[in-house]
Amino acid sequence: MSEKTFKRILVTSALPYANGPIHIGHLAGAYIPADLYCRYQRLKGRDLVYVCGSDEFGVAIVMKALKEGVTPQEIVDKYHPIIRDSFEAIGMSFDHYGRTTTPTHEDTSQDFFRRLASKDVFNLKTDEQLYDAEAGVFLADRFVRGTCPVCGYEDAYGDQCENCGTSLSPAELINPRSALTDATPELRETTHWYIPLGDWQPKLEAYIGSHPEWKPNVLGQIGAWFKDGLRDRAITRDVPWGVPVPRDVAEAAGVEAEGKVIYVWFDAPIGYVSATREWAAAQGDPERWRLYWQDDESMLIHFIGKDNIVFHTLMFPAMLMAYGDYVVPENVPANEFLNIEGKKLSTSRGWAVWLHEHLEDFPPDLLRYALAATLPETKDADFSWKDFQTRANSELADILGNFVHRALTFAAREFDGQVPPLVNPGDFDRETLAKLAEFPARIGQSYERFRIREAVFETMNLARLGNKYFNDSEPWKTRKTDREACANTIHVSLQLCAALSVLMEPVLPFSAAKLRAMLGLDGIRASAPGGDPGATTGWDEAGQPLLQENHALGNPEILFRKVEDDAIDAQIAKLSAADAAEEAEPETPYEPKKDFIEYDDFARLDLRMGTVTAAERVPKSKKLLRLEVDLGFEQRQILAGAAQHFDPADLVGRRVIAVANLKPRKMMGLESQGMLLMSEDRDGRLTLLSAEGENGAVVR
Ligand SMILES: [Zn+2]
Repeated sequence: MSEKTFKRILVTSALPYANGPIHIGHLAGAYIPADLYCRYQRLKGRDLVYVCGSDEFGVAIVMKALKEGVTPQEIVDKYHPIIRDSFEAIGMSFDHYGRTTTPTHEDTSQDFFRRLASKDVFNLKTDEQLYDAEAGVFLADRFVRGTCPVCGYEDAYGDQCENCGTSLSPAELINPRSALTDATPELRETTHWYIPLGDWQPKLEAYIGSHPEWKPNVLGQIGAWFKDGLRDRAITRDVPWGVPVPRDVAEAAGVEAEGKVIYVWFDAPIGYVSATREWAAAQGDPERWRLYWQDDESMLIHFIGKDNIVFHTLMFPAMLMAYGDYVVPENVPANEFLNIEGKKLSTSRGWAVWLHEHLEDFPPDLLRYALAATLPETKDADFSWKDFQTRANSELADILGNFVHRALTFAAREFDGQVPPLVNPGDFDRETLAKLAEFPARIGQSYERFRIREAVFETMNLARLGNKYFNDSEPWKTRKTDREACANTIHVSLQLCAALSVLMEPVLPFSAAKLRAMLGLDGIRASAPGGDPGATTGWDEAGQPLLQENHALGNPEILFRKVEDDAIDAQIAKLSAADAAEEAEPETPYEPKKDFIEYDDFARLDLRMGTVTAAERVPKSKKLLRLEVDLGFEQRQILAGAAQHFDPADLVGRRVIAVANLKPRKMMGLESQGMLLMSEDRDGRLTLLSAEGENGAVVR
């Protein structure tokens, strides 16, 4: 923890992308941990605002719209309410849930862009990019598909190969084609704004260096980026969907503004600011957002998944520093990924558990608890349906629910539904109350350190303590033999129940409210917006007895119903159906055999022996090697997408087989005049093929 104390807290969860519903992988990454943290801080009485919203721009939305034959606006109008409503149903306690297609967001994003441009933060660069002349658009990111230079997968996107996971730039694709028209794109000049992150590296290193308390998985990833050296990042796109580049900025730079939008990763984090502005406006105090963003006594916390670390720890802080006035994130507790039943979550394969479907079958607190207890905080974690059932039945029902039920029904039966007074308490009673007093601080420390899983485990330990105390005190025996001891047991048990109804509120808000109703306990501070502002009893008070002697209790009810095997089997069957198609083939299949060809087809190939005479990496490309090959009759420059497989120094002198009559093509501005034969095994490892014979010898 930083030594600094803050007056107020601003918490954000990554903006979910509005091209599909929310699944439990999302929840375990950026949402459940943030919601528990916020509810805990509100119970502490801290001044906190929690914002989020739908991220509605970017090429993926346009692609989805094209696929479904609708407009991008129709796509986001469809998914924004689905996402918002499912968040509400699982109890996400946002102060404001916005969206990035609002006028406030356009205004805030353009203000950022304009201010940074006026401070000369950006570079302008003109270079050649792929252009679809048929559609009249530049092919950014997912608008272009082609063969992956790393693994040879023929349907890779311009920004990433889904087969091998490598991130790409459109110019690196072999045989690129437009995803819009299938046309072969041409190269055309276009001008874009770049943020020179390299210039900011010293400042960013100092900033990150002042936060050794950040999670090791986050610091590790940042360290790798620093070691690589931060590069210029384009922050505009030629895409017909997004926040327009401000006209005045474009005109001042002599660039045609039409068709230029701000890159989605520049405007998305600004969405946190827009959402806070919208929240302040709704409070009737439109300038109030500045307190949370522009006052040194505000603590900014970003909850995200590990795939967003670079944007929240490097790019956005650089933007905030460049703008001036703004605070920078105090912590970015990013989570790793959640697998399902031991396998990587995949929405395209249907290997996912969707939030809105889950909530049709189970109460929200069960999923909140099961996820919070297994969060991928330091490494990937696994969600399994059997584990979900065990958490629900063996922990929530058998420990917490059982303890509460026994204490309340006993009080109803034996003490007229009232809290019996504590008279001459024994050692065990006093020890138990003393232990209870330590829980709020202990659980709180875990929350403060973003160890959410540990906080939930400690919370359940209080229920375990209660269960054991009740069992060992045996009130069903003392009710006849020692009426005072029996009353003391029930008194202490009820105080434990009352404490639980506060301390379990972050993870189980629906059940905690139900428990407080059973206890007739009022006046507890709210953990979500809209509570009674007069309530002053909260987290810190929960370690002390909250119930007065002779206080009238409400009616006991079942807090958690058991999850039956049938319900779990049905969920597993649903997943297996999605998996069946995949099971039909092995994990990494051999490539399917191609169709027969005529001998003449083969004879058209001109294969020659050669020797590699020089090899180097192509600057700015992670994959491409530039090789010089002596074919005997001539020298060739050949580009190979194999930089991740070979050390260039090892290749010089290697005897190779080259395709000598492959039409030359340009990659990364260099002409490739042929191709080398390699084998690729099922795990994607490449081996250079060779044979005997002098340079230039024909191979057939
Ligand atoms: Zn690939």
